[in-house]
Amino acid sequence: MTTESQERQELRAAVNKFAAGYGPKYMEKCYQDGEYPWELWREAGKLGFLGVNIPEEFGGGGAGMYELSLVAEELNAQGSGLLLMVVSPAICGNIINRFGTPEQRQQWLPGLGDGSKILVFGITEPDAGSNSHRITTTAKRDGSDWLLTGRKVFISGVDVADAVLIVARTEDAKTGNLKPALFIVPRDTPGFEYQPIDMAVRLPERQFSLFFDDMRLPAEALVGDPDGGIMQLFAGLNPERIMAAAGGVGSARYALDRAVDYAKTRTVFKAPIGAHQAISHPLAQIKIETELAKLMMQKAAVLYDGGDDFGAAEAANMAKYAAAEASVRAIDQAVQTLGGNGLTVEYDLGTQLANARIMRIAPVSREMILNYVATTSLGLPKSY
Ligand SMILES: Cc1cc2nc3c(=O)[nH]c(=O)nc-3n(C[C@H](O)[C@H](O)[C@H](O)COP(=O)(O)OP(=O)(O)OC[C@H]3O[C@@H](n4cnc5c(N)ncnc54)[C@H](O)[C@@H]3O)c2cc1C
Repeated sequence: MTTESQERQELRAAVNKFAAGYGPKYMEKCYQDGEYPWELWREAGKLGFLGVNIPEEFGGGGAGMYELSLVAEELNAQGSGLLLMVVSPAICGNIINRFGTPEQRQQWLPGLGDGSKILVFGITEPDAGSNSHRITTTAKRDGSDWLLTGRKVFISGVDVADAVLIVARTEDAKTGNLKPALFIVPRDTPGFEYQPIDMAVRLPERQFSLFFDDMRLPAEALVGDPDGGIMQLFAGLNPERIMAAAGGVGSARYALDRAVDYAKTRTVFKAPIGAHQAISHPLAQIKIETELAKLMMQKAAVLYDGGDDFGAAEAANMAKYAAAEASVRAIDQAVQTLGGNGLTVEYDLGTQLANARIMRIAPVSREMILNYVATTSLGLPKSY
């Protein structure tokens, strides 16, 4: 049963087949060796999967977030999810495509599309956390240059990135609601310092703290208009949430498939364990929740691709919430279904328990989505 065009079904099948050649054992090895999954990344780039949303004039697929989230979903469904797809082609690709200068588009979009360049994204700050309106990274004009001062935390993939797209605020908009000013900061910029954070998750993509103090950037580092307002950021945050939902839907599918396969054959009493409703009902619930999350993700992508940023924001938040819940429950239930085997390295599920929890926290937490729906969708008063 599908509502997808032939073209989308073919893309889905191609990514699925490709991703099955990698999988959790490959990702785990990369994690243990401290290596970025370059082989998977580069091959996915060469096949055009990383750049399906990049315009054709820059060598991309000319499609949109629907297709990019489809790629991410299928990679995750094979245990081959690439976290940097969320930041590089999705957040940064969309922001630069929509608000970058012709030079910035030419410089970045072809590479983001074929994976030869990686741009990561830095918004989170230690003292602001979920409250982006409180960020203090400040850009000060110095002639035609900018001087950037601030600190960021939990920024993924800095060690393998060519540059970081930093969310700052200009000096004359230093307080109050965030009026973001976005800067492309190459990793080799003098004064740009970064340190890995020792994380308890098993991801081949590492997280970093960033520090910069009066770091000099040329005028061309600025993306868009410093007075452009929050919509420039939304051009990236909606894709971020759609991609996070895709990661959740894909990993829920991955866990569900493992659990169902096991439950069909493992027999310890008379019938396979999948015949016991204590096993089959939670799996059936997860199947329903995953399909519903996927539908909402596709709605968000259709709205975004159609140019409705505001409508997409509600759907993208809801999709991200639903997919995160489905994936956390799916991994937990899959481990339960496999019993002791669920916690062996051989079955590749126990190692994902901590990773699944990321979904409830990043890129936007479960609670902040509930706040958004309560206040924006339902019009309830705000406590914060
Ligand atoms: C693996 C990983 C990768 C990441 N990659 C990136 C990246 O590439 N770039 C980047 O910029 N950031 C990244 N992040 C950061 C991530 O977006 C933040 O961790 C997230 O937004 C939450 O912020 P915080 O950790 O400061 O939590 P806090 O904001 O301190 O929140 C702590 C808890 O309090 C709750 N809370 C806070 N305020 C409220 C409220 N008003 N109502 C109810 N509950 C509330 C939150 O929901 C949460 O449960 C990453 C994080 C992780 C874990």
